[in-house]
Amino acid sequence: MIMDFKTLLDKQDFDIEDIVRLLDCNPAEEALLFAKADEVRLANVGNGVYGRALIELTNYCKKDCYYCGIRKSNKSVERYMLDFEQVKYAIHLASDSGIGSMAIQSGELSSPEFTDFVIRILNYAKSIDPNLGITLSCGEQSPETYKKWFDAGAERYLLRIEVSDEETYYNFHPNNELHSFQNRLSCLQSIRDAGFQTGTGVMIGLPGQTVESLAKDVVFMRDFNIHMCGMGPFIPCNGTPMENAKSPFEDLVGMSLRMIAVMRIVMKDINIVASTAMETIHPQGRSRAIQAGANVVMPNVNPLEHRKKYKLYEKIPTGIIDSVDSLINAAYAPIPEGYHLILNQKGTAPHYLKEHLI
Ligand code: SF4
Repeated sequence: MIMDFKTLLDKQDFDIEDIVRLLDCNPAEEALLFAKADEVRLANVGNGVYGRALIELTNYCKKDCYYCGIRKSNKSVERYMLDFEQVKYAIHLASDSGIGSMAIQSGELSSPEFTDFVIRILNYAKSIDPNLGITLSCGEQSPETYKKWFDAGAERYLLRIEVSDEETYYNFHPNNELHSFQNRLSCLQSIRDAGFQTGTGVMIGLPGQTVESLAKDVVFMRDFNIHMCGMGPFIPCNGTPMENAKSPFEDLVGMSLRMIAVMRIVMKDINIVASTAMETIHPQGRSRAIQAGANVVMPNVNPLEHRKKYKLYEKIPTGIIDSVDSLINAAYAPIPEGYHLILNQKGTAPHYLKEHLI
């Protein structure tokens, strides 16, 4: 049995049944899976970990995803928008630390003012540090907006599909024009067309989810040929329609780690995030994610007064990062022995580099 699993791990192309088998492995096989993911990671992206200083620009959002703590209908959320000075401070922190990169995340807003605000931020960041890599994660936008943001200097865009099956998608999102699955797909295509390193990801542990549906998520990400993957466990948030939802997986930590390992094996040279949500469900969640194949950490440099207002789920870890030293320490914190933090590099995924050098 174990020999069979080893043979499976050495395959170069995986079909749905293979991926189901990898995700559904027993503890002995799981150890082999993680060892293989680490081997693939060392051969393709090395043992370095990229850091992204994360800011959460605003928790205003026009949408109502059922699982999300900052959904529009959650009236208990105190809304904020960072001002330009607060953003500048974070940019300088990211630049001065040598961490090489920052990520700007927000609720979904579509207005000329918001588009221009992001452009102003990008222009400023590039004026003080042209080598600072910038990832945006600001939801669904028009193709023109994506292009404007790319032209202003953002290199990467993360838009999580969350659930890759259209029918199931509407179990977790209102079934209306604002939450259209097809629009999400076309946004992902527009992001790629604009020139971005394109990232997506899914939630793990949604009610009704099965190993088979997760395997289909992996195939979706592979077939879309993404450059970055940001996925994590579903954690219910109070005040949302899904506050009492239960994971179908008894071992959510294990399933989340196996998803990371499988993504690393299936898409060898992409960037994979060790998400903060992993830390919420296990004290060493991000370290274990790195050992399972992740190679990106995203310490949160949002002003402390706003950290708790960007509550996508319960028990988001908080800690003060208000200096270069504390940012470096926070980036190093989850990195286990045998891996290191990469400094002074943008952290482009080899998968993207290869695609664009050919
Ligand atoms: S998941 Fe994103 S788009 Fe949906 S409500 Fe939350 S912030 Fe808005």
